[in-house]
Amino acid sequence: YSEEDRAEDYLFKVVLIGDSAVGKSNLLARFARDEFYPNSKSTIGVEFQTQKMDINGKEVKAQIWDTAGQERFRAVTSAYYRGAVGALLVYDISRRQTFDSIGRWLNELHTHSDMNVVTILVGNKSDLKDAREVTTAEGKALAEAQGLFFMETSALDSSNVTAAFQTVVTEIYNILS
Ligand code: GDP
Ligand code: MG
Repeated sequence: YSEEDRAEDYLFKVVLIGDSAVGKSNLLARFARDEFYPNSKSTIGVEFQTQKMDINGKEVKAQIWDTAGQERFRAVTSAYYRGAVGALLVYDISRRQTFDSIGRWLNELHTHSDMNVVTILVGNKSDLKDAREVTTAEGKALAEAQGLFFMETSALDSSNVTAAFQTVVTEIYNILS
């Protein structure tokens, strides 16, 4: 095998978590297929999507898991988290309640997966400027307090979507390679 072939053997499981309707499925749709669903129901998601990524000039694959809407019932199973090395912990900047849930999601993540899972706090729907209920400073402060990466994204206008996934996978790659 050439070095490039070996790099392709990297397969990192990354999970999307956060309250219902914060935009998890659309972040994945935007990242993996450059699609957006204005009226998506919780059923649009696939179980997971494998995405090839270029990290430091190496090709790695991220296997990104999306919930099938079970987060509404607070019943995301341990199988969902099993083997995850990365997580996007998503809230909606226009709904404070979803930001207040982050602590609970973080507990669940740490209960079901390795403490060292690389995690980014994602404030999605940054395009909804007039409806904002959570400031950027609040998101940053929580991320710093919890030792998480942080980014605000919009699956609607695409801003920072690739960057958010890239941040997590690059860090995983740097730790594991
Ligand atoms: P999930 O339940 O977390 O998977 O959320 P969805 O991806 O199904 O999105 C829930 C709703 O929010 C849908 O109506 C989406 O069109 C909308 N949505 C998702 N991301 C964004 C975004 O970045 N901006 C705006 N304005 N709406 C979004
Ligand atoms: Mg969904």
